[in-house]
Amino acid sequence: MYKSIIIGTGPAGYTAAIYLARANMNPLIIEGMQPGGQLTTTTEIENFPGFEQGILGPELMDNMRKQAERFGAEFTSGWVEEVDFSKRPFKVKVEGKGIIEAESVIIATGASAKYLGIPGEQDNVGRGVSTCATCDGFFFRGKKIIVVGGGDSAMEEASFLTRFASSVTLVHRRDELRASKIMQDRARENEKVHWALNRTPLEVVTGETGLKGLKVHNNETNQDELIEADGVFVAIGHTPNTGFLNGQIHTDEHGYIEVKPGTTETNIPGVFACGDVQDNRYRQAITAAGTGCMAAMDCEKYLEGSSVHDWSESLDQ
Ligand code: NAP
Repeated sequence: MYKSIIIGTGPAGYTAAIYLARANMNPLIIEGMQPGGQLTTTTEIENFPGFEQGILGPELMDNMRKQAERFGAEFTSGWVEEVDFSKRPFKVKVEGKGIIEAESVIIATGASAKYLGIPGEQDNVGRGVSTCATCDGFFFRGKKIIVVGGGDSAMEEASFLTRFASSVTLVHRRDELRASKIMQDRARENEKVHWALNRTPLEVVTGETGLKGLKVHNNETNQDELIEADGVFVAIGHTPNTGFLNGQIHTDEHGYIEVKPGTTETNIPGVFACGDVQDNRYRQAITAAGTGCMAAMDCEKYLEGSSVHDWSESLDQ
């Protein structure tokens, strides 16, 4: 029985772990398939305060993990298959580890990259289709690449991929970009980046020798066209990782966990949420870390106030 289990290891989960470990709560942190979370797939982080020259995403995450470990946080890895929050102690079932019980749970499972859902896409993941420029850009040295999306992620990926690619074509379904001005300017100033705006992706097209390109609908001419490329990087946003909750925690229409405004409290007392899994608005490393701190403090307050008697009560009452 743990006082607290933290599910997820992005900046939110690690920060919650640092705070709880320093408060002698000996939290157990469950690392999923991607320890360190989304930041392990980014390059330089220039906007995390305290790093004047920037810091690499994986390095920042590694530092946070070590900091939590230094104060006694315990780690285990495995996929959380299901949870039971219907009564206390809460139960968390981890693949290969069985059921782990805790007095409180902090959910910091973040969000995962979205796919387009078009023919040819899933069949070619790892064979020319990717959602992670940092992971896969290296394989496209001297090749033609397409990046799909009009947000900051797409701008960042496009700029980054010009390090490897002979050219990067940015495909976006509208003629207006959603990305911030600074990110747009950076991509626009890059001579290797070409623009295919007003194009809706239809199909990832392959030939005998591999990926041929992306078939798109040109919304101006109303014609379909093939944009040739060796790789397609999809950068169209993220979906919160809440599937394992099986409806036990209230979420909004996009699946993001709802928390009581100004806190990290979910609809179930003793279960808290922090980071991107409950944030559809800011989605930054620093805001995730901030809410991780809030979750630890909310959790600590909850644990101080709860008793064994409370745990046996049904939460529905
Ligand atoms: P986003 O801002 O939600 O943008 C997603 C883009 O993908 C939009 O342009 C959207 O088109 C397009 N899209 C979505 N679904 C699509 C589909 N099915 N087919 C074609 N296009 C589709 O997501 P994001 O770029 O990942 O950014 C998320 C947050 O992280 C933002 O707050 C951003 O500022 C932040 N971020 C910051 C940095 C940085 O500062 N270094 C880097 C990356 C991300 P529409 O515009 O037509 O909806």
